[in-house]
Amino acid sequence: MNSIQDTTVWNNQNIYTGFNDPALINDVENLGVRITTFSGKTNVFADAIEALEEKRDLPSGLINEVQYCLKESLEISVEIMTIMTFASCQLSTDAAHIEAKDLSGRLGILNSKFSKGEKPLQLFLQRATDEFISELLESEEMVQFTFKLEHSRKLRDFLLSTSEEVLVSGLGQDGLHAWGKLYNALSGSMKVQLGEETIGLARAASIVREGDRSKREAAYNGINNAWKVHEESAAAILNAINGWRLEMNESRGQKREMHYLDVSCHQSRIERATLDALMNETYEQRSIGQEALGSMAKLMGIEKLAPYDLIAPAPSFGEKGETLISFKEAINIIAEAFSELTPEMGEFALMMADKGWIDARPTESRSPGAYCTKFARTREPRVFMTYTGSMGNVITLAHELGHAYHNWVMRDMPITETHYSMTLAETASIFAETLVKKALLEKSVNREDRLKIMWQNAESAAALLINIPARYEFEKELVEARKVRPQSPDEMKTLMNSAWKRWYEDTLTEYDDMFWANKLHFSISSLGFYNYPYLFGYLFSLGIYGQKDKYGSDFKDLYHNILRDTGRMTAENLIKKHLSKDITKPAFWADSLNIVAEQVREFTQEVNK
Ligand SMILES: [Zn+2]
Repeated sequence: MNSIQDTTVWNNQNIYTGFNDPALINDVENLGVRITTFSGKTNVFADAIEALEEKRDLPSGLINEVQYCLKESLEISVEIMTIMTFASCQLSTDAAHIEAKDLSGRLGILNSKFSKGEKPLQLFLQRATDEFISELLESEEMVQFTFKLEHSRKLRDFLLSTSEEVLVSGLGQDGLHAWGKLYNALSGSMKVQLGEETIGLARAASIVREGDRSKREAAYNGINNAWKVHEESAAAILNAINGWRLEMNESRGQKREMHYLDVSCHQSRIERATLDALMNETYEQRSIGQEALGSMAKLMGIEKLAPYDLIAPAPSFGEKGETLISFKEAINIIAEAFSELTPEMGEFALMMADKGWIDARPTESRSPGAYCTKFARTREPRVFMTYTGSMGNVITLAHELGHAYHNWVMRDMPITETHYSMTLAETASIFAETLVKKALLEKSVNREDRLKIMWQNAESAAALLINIPARYEFEKELVEARKVRPQSPDEMKTLMNSAWKRWYEDTLTEYDDMFWANKLHFSISSLGFYNYPYLFGYLFSLGIYGQKDKYGSDFKDLYHNILRDTGRMTAENLIKKHLSKDITKPAFWADSLNIVAEQVREFTQEVNK
């Protein structure tokens, strides 16, 4: 049934014909020259910052310099991104491709040279007076920078002196970020004992996602035992990263307090009130995720799930195997489901396959996972995944095509206005997934297929409504405790246990008290509170989906307009403008939670049949 032959591979010939394309060689060379010239020009902003600090007059004609450099920096970054995407697309399908590796390495060096050259410009724009900025933005060409500039200037009160900023970011390489690198080195080299066998951590983690429960249990215990050997180091990493951040917030918070959650909310482009409303309402309705856990356990034929069952696949009932879906069929199912919203979205899915913008055919030495990317120069999206015909594959394909559609509806906009935050990044993908899951459920004739889709809904509900908030809770408690003193591994275990207890309550056989070490997200040095944007994106997208019937035939335009504004507005303003709703209030989130509750109820009923 499933034929791999009809699965598409991508065609990037219109960007460059290959790695020896003279145009590519020429573009890379030009880029190098252009970056050197650009970096020479931005020196003037270092002088301008000094003038600001010493309250002297700014060099004359500075507005023109800023305008020129902003445009030039935009064009350079479009070129860098285009060539980088060309190389990384190749590497995804063939990790060993020598020319792609070489190109990617050279671009990396050019990119860091460019970032360094851009720094004085950015620092100046954060510090310039409001008058200077409004004069700058008067020019029509500069309007596209409005949101980005205004957003970054919200942190103006927290800036250190320029020399301190330079010192901190320099020290950070072997300070803050060294701890993150140590975590990666540690987890990359750790060995897990599985009976007689010794395997790497990544392999063990993948076993926890597989169908055999006793193997999952062994892998889970093996992973946690391995982390226990390194628990002092893992705790030292978390203590150092959080200690560094607290120290920085204190130094920056001279004019007014810089709270660690404000830092995170600024990155997410949301308000603290929104984060609180989201978390409080999710806690009020934790029974939804808990019901999902109970029904999953029942389908597995056990009383309660253990931590190693949380990301397990749906149990198989044997008699007839999973229905495989060919790639062509998958695209047609997705196109049909997308057309529910608008025929244009359906045609888009077909076009992605026709144009060779999807690479999904299994190959040797291929990257795992799935993603959507785009060529910044031509504004064309590309989707990568490995398609083998499972129901899960169809949903992943729909998810990535949702991201691609998001890019597509913004393709005529200035690129500066198309960069959305992590909180809004999943809006279109989860929306697309929801459309396709609904269509698949309506189509599925056999119970096993139906249960597989519903299982995915239930697992998402449990992961996003229970596990993610528990991570948030842990991190918040950890930061508070770290204010007083560094925490020992045993204290970290206690913090994690109580976060799990608060959210899972009595739905599991035990809590995962090594989760703080094993989940790498807590040790990402470049940003804290990495997790809640997933919960935000999930409920945010469902909240928009939930308005579909109310707006009827007007909804498709409304949806497009929402997507087009994701890169130039805060989440609050986006929803106020288009749906007249207030996401700082619990009601918006409660409506989204009702949609999840309905999905979980459906699953429970099917399990009880
Ligand atoms: Zn996604």
